[in-house]
Amino acid sequence: MVQKLKKKRKMQNAKYQLRCLECGNAISDRYTNICPDGHNSLLRTEYKTKRIRKLSGMGMFNYIDWLPVDAAMPIGASPITYKSEWLGKELGLNNLFIGFSGYWPEKGAFMKTCSFKELEASPTCLRAKAKSGKILVVPSAGNTSRAFAEVSARTGMPVIAIVPKSSIYRMWTTTAPESQGSIFLIAVDGDYSDAIAISNEIVKLEGLIAEGGVKNVARRDGMGVVELDAAFFMHTLPDHYFQAVGSGTGAIAAWEAFIRLIGDGRFGEKMPRIFISQNLPFAPIFNAWQAGRAEIIADKDMINAGESISAMYSDVLSTRNPPYSIKGGVYDMLVGTQGTVYGITNEECRVAEKLFESEEGIDLDPAAAVAVASLISAVDRGDVGKEDKILLNITGGGYNRLKEDYKMNRIEERMVIKSSGQLVLDVVETEVREFVRGYL
Ligand SMILES: *Cc1c(COP(=O)(O)O)cnc(C)c1O
Ligand SMILES: [Zn+2]
Repeated sequence: MVQKLKKKRKMQNAKYQLRCLECGNAISDRYTNICPDGHNSLLRTEYKTKRIRKLSGMGMFNYIDWLPVDAAMPIGASPITYKSEWLGKELGLNNLFIGFSGYWPEKGAFMKTCSFKELEASPTCLRAKAKSGKILVVPSAGNTSRAFAEVSARTGMPVIAIVPKSSIYRMWTTTAPESQGSIFLIAVDGDYSDAIAISNEIVKLEGLIAEGGVKNVARRDGMGVVELDAAFFMHTLPDHYFQAVGSGTGAIAAWEAFIRLIGDGRFGEKMPRIFISQNLPFAPIFNAWQAGRAEIIADKDMINAGESISAMYSDVLSTRNPPYSIKGGVYDMLVGTQGTVYGITNEECRVAEKLFESEEGIDLDPAAAVAVASLISAVDRGDVGKEDKILLNITGGGYNRLKEDYKMNRIEERMVIKSSGQLVLDVVETEVREFVRGYL
């Protein structure tokens, strides 16, 4: 009894707790990414502070009230929000707001990894250090691992990054090669799914912990900073929100941020409509949603997956197992926001990218071009009105601009691995163990 009361008091004092959306139980955070009762549900953070403060001088950690960390990381760059003049005019939209995560110093954006994955990496590293004390293992198609690598290089916090060989060119830091010693990069002879499979094996080694993907609240709340920043800039919630998705984690994060902002009370009460977009021909979420299903069926929604993925304009959007059906996941987000999904062709991406770059004056990550194309499509279909307040999430950009100011230093992989399973572990074990020993 005393024990129970103590536990309860401790949770009440904590800055936040986690809540399972299936059983409703409150859970105190020990880098907990799944309900202790094993429910197929996302956990959601509940913060004690309901009215969020916007602090200053700490980049994304200006919003620390709604981040599952106790202290700011000094390198926390921030996304920016601004009102579009030129693209808005071109599309006949009078209230188009752009959330930009990338490098664009003229606008005050200094995210040197050039994508919103950086918003996930900083709070995740802090949370892992505080709540687990273990070393993170991060599989990705490139942008996520690069974000973690940059944080690692600049803070000395170790990370194990696992990336398909074809995406290795995305692995660089703006810091000097000498600073990259805390990054253990493994190249995988296969695609993103193979990288995930291998990561699932490696993480079984002592001292390591899975970063957690969509189930990691630090990732989602980190990405939610885009919506928080937009709300403070716009003084209200948008009517519509546009984003390109692979896993849909960013859009779930946006939904959760909107829920909190509505709870705050100062930004309006109407849930924004979330428009997500996928890049055809690989679009499992789009296909399942079109068919009115709450599940993705591989034989129907991912036909010729390998071929389709290699034909994409933006292959960072090629997630094969998006968190679509899980409680609190993409399907629930779409239902909860009266949202919808667009499928975007490569040709639409090219047109949109050209238009955005010439109107707004910054280069885009191909994934962001998908989002711009979806906005153009929504205007054409009459799904948005001239005066509607629209938030367009430009999830990455400014690579060319960054090249003018910094050198992109390639991270050397320590090994190349072919297949998953026991064989892999044998090969990797000795070297990884040695790396881990150096830090624990
Ligand atoms: C990862 C990524 C996305 C898609 O994000 P999800 O959360 O996986 O849906 C969009 N744009 C960029 C630039 C990305 O790196
Ligand atoms: Zn539960």
